[in-house]
Amino acid sequence: MVWLLRKCIKCGRYTLKRDSCPYCGGEVRVPHPARFSPDDKYASYKSALRSVMDEEDSNSGERRG
Ligand SMILES: [Zn+2]
Repeated sequence: MVWLLRKCIKCGRYTLKRDSCPYCGGEVRVPHPARFSPDDKYASYKSALRSVMDEEDSNSGERRG
């Protein structure tokens, strides 16, 4: 499992961008895995990742390598 998600410290949205939030331009940080419960952290993470990927794909159409 690779931790691709970043979380904006300004608006709190998850994103795949590593430099800045695509929604508000705020600073992004790697979310702490401890936020997710031990039992379902991967399920929660995958769910968040999937929703972000769907959203950013439909927003920008940008391709990722
Ligand atoms: Zn933001």
